[in-house]
Amino acid sequence: DPRINRIKTSIRVVPNFPKPGIMFQDITTLLLDPQTFKDTVDLFVERYKGKNISVVAGIEARGFIFGPPIALAIGAKFVPLRKPKKLPGEVISEDYTLEYGRDCLQMHVGAVETGERALVVDDLVATGGTLCAAINLLKRAGAHVVECACVIELPDLKGRERLKGKPLYVLVESH
Ligand code: IMP
Repeated sequence: DPRINRIKTSIRVVPNFPKPGIMFQDITTLLLDPQTFKDTVDLFVERYKGKNISVVAGIEARGFIFGPPIALAIGAKFVPLRKPKKLPGEVISEDYTLEYGRDCLQMHVGAVETGERALVVDDLVATGGTLCAAINLLKRAGAHVVECACVIELPDLKGRERLKGKPLYVLVESH
């Protein structure tokens, strides 16, 4: 698919951000080209349309960029999975470990009903810890996670193996 190569080349790699040794994959440059942004959303929509997905769960912050247009196009609700103390209602929380330290994702109670079919969306999967927390939140709410979808995978970090057997679909890999 020729769209994939344009997506790949539109992602800027910023060395030593946010700390020395990290090669940061920056999707803001992809967003600057409307056709490439549309192609990215379209590739996900083509995959998930007609799959009976009723929930797109987007992970703060960049899952909030790609998740909503996918949700609208496939006729699903959008549910934000947020960092602590951002959601005003009653929440459930999942703590997870980062390379250095801990973090947490929260979801509103009542956003998802038992038996709903969910897609988890983020920009990038590295160690898989963030997606794993998202999967746990949706499972606790009684949803069935159909798949996780990211624009970029860093396959060397083997995040795929942490997803509790859930399939992962990505558009580009970066080494
Ligand atoms: P993981 O939990 O180790 O898989 O890290 C994935 C999370 O960290 C996602 O929410 C990403 O948005 C963020 N992340 C890690 N590395 C990068 C990067 O190079 N570019 C953009 N986001 C990143």
